Amino acid sequence: MALYITDECINCDVCEPECPNDAISEGEEIYVIDPQLCTECVGHYDEPQCQQVCPVDCIPHDPSRVESKVQLQDKYERIMAAQA
Ligand code: SF4
Ligand code: SF4
Repeated sequence: MALYITDECINCDVCEPECPNDAISEGEEIYVIDPQLCTECVGHYDEPQCQQVCPVDCIPHDPSRVESKVQLQDKYERIMAAQA
């Protein structure tokens, strides 16, 4: 399940450099996560790194994007292959 950033985001920029997949970027009003690139940090870390650092705790899982660990691992491998 990809994560998303809610409108509680204060644009602090702390999460963006922590994402191993470069899935986070500055949107028009708040920071945004590209669900095609978010693997919940599967393949890199045990926990979603953005959630760990967000000072206002505004990065929940997106229930409309349910993915299994296997699907997240597949996504990670596709991203790595595309970067190779
Ligand atoms: S959970 Fe991991 S991959 Fe997804 S946006 Fe956060 S830091 Fe990036
Ligand atoms: S760490 Fe949280 S508050 Fe800061 S930019 Fe990222 S989502 Fe927004």
